[in-house]
Amino acid sequence: MHSFDVVIVGAGAAGLFCAGVAGQLGLKVLVIDHSEKVAEKIRISGGGRSNFTNVDVTAANFLSENPRFAKSALSRYTPADFIGLVKKHNIAFHEKHKGQLFCDRSAEDLIAMLLAECAAGGVERWQPCSVKNIRFLAKPQVLASSPHGQCASSYEIESDRGAIHCGAVVIATGGLSIPKIGATDFGYRVAKQFDLPLVTPRPALVPLTFDEAAWAPFAQLSGLSLPVDIATGAKKASMAFREDLLFTHRGLSGPGVLQISSYWAEGTPIRLNLAPGTDLSKHLSEAKATSRKRIANELAGLVPSRLADTWVEQGATWGHDWQRPVNEASDKALNALAEHLSRWELTPTGTEGYRKAEVTGGGVDTKVLSSQTLESRQPGLFFIGEVVDVTGWLGGYNFQWAWASGYACAHGLAAR
Ligand code: FAD
Repeated sequence: MHSFDVVIVGAGAAGLFCAGVAGQLGLKVLVIDHSEKVAEKIRISGGGRSNFTNVDVTAANFLSENPRFAKSALSRYTPADFIGLVKKHNIAFHEKHKGQLFCDRSAEDLIAMLLAECAAGGVERWQPCSVKNIRFLAKPQVLASSPHGQCASSYEIESDRGAIHCGAVVIATGGLSIPKIGATDFGYRVAKQFDLPLVTPRPALVPLTFDEAAWAPFAQLSGLSLPVDIATGAKKASMAFREDLLFTHRGLSGPGVLQISSYWAEGTPIRLNLAPGTDLSKHLSEAKATSRKRIANELAGLVPSRLADTWVEQGATWGHDWQRPVNEASDKALNALAEHLSRWELTPTGTEGYRKAEVTGGGVDTKVLSSQTLESRQPGLFFIGEVVDVTGWLGGYNFQWAWASGYACAHGLAAR
């Protein structure tokens, strides 16, 4: 029988970070992962350079049924703390768009850093290894091998490398996004086993799709990227971003769409301004007085020309004739064109799903978790990282949650 103070299931961002901190706080830690490689998501994140945090992180950058839940952990382990660790390991990094920090060289540097921190804490790692069962022991047993001596084993874990006794179990198995690199519903199943409620998981930070026939005229714009204002939700609960949008064959993607997708509810529309910061109506009416160019050519000075062409062609479908010189167009037609481009309202039929989602929204309901330690109401059972109903915006926020929740948990474990 193997004995550990803590068994962490999931050697991803949250699990490895938590393991390193807990080990260095003196706990005997085992990390188990069913994949051969650790931290696959760190490896592929940020185009291979990992957007590992953001310089400006507040609870407002996260979605959760309880928007205040993440505050405590985020304030106890901040981006500055993680940046300090990255610097200690001599990993060069740079700031990109809106406070996003990326490795200069490779995400592999971060993985090496996490493994070095685990090694410094004497963390043991079993991979690939599957957990078959987790059993709560009604009568705790003293762990002979525990460095603390007094630590009681509360759980028995059945793994394909044998049975393990431990004082606490940390579930760090992430969400359902990108199943082909090892995502499973393990965390949610453990929650259900111990009667802990879930906020229904859903794909988030995900491209949006549209009815094939309705999208056909816009599919030719596939590959086109432009800055937009994008919003969703009813007035009071409306959420808006100014970010890039990318047209795809099946719908819309790009940072703006990924951000809004986390807030989008099925059956509701999204609203786009395809020429943010430009008074299209004014520009077009001025052009009418001075120019004889075709409307599409005039418009091409304000938005990408492919978009201008498609829009003008689409005019007939929307009941307007925009295929003419601008000086021959009626004010009504030009105003309608400006309105269509700056207030394009359309209703997605769905998302690209977990196959393409960067994260999973929802997860273990925070009302059964301590915001201080991430321990659930089931004593000795902790949940950290993406498996929890805390979902960050695009931009390094999800990794900051993984570090912060892992840190809070490690300190909670050490204080038991
Ligand atoms: P994960 O990192 O997903 O780790 C979970 C671990 O659990 C995995 O190692 C998995 O193999 C293991 N596991 C799963 N099921 C089992 C099981 N049954 N038994 C044993 N082990 C199991 N966030 C950012 O902040 N910045 C970015 O740049 C960024 N880029 C991303 C790019 C992509 C393509 C994707 C998919 C996500 C990106 N994210 C990014 C999100 C970020 O990767 C996750 O939010 C973060 O990795 C969550 O950490 P975690 O430790 O909770 O889960």
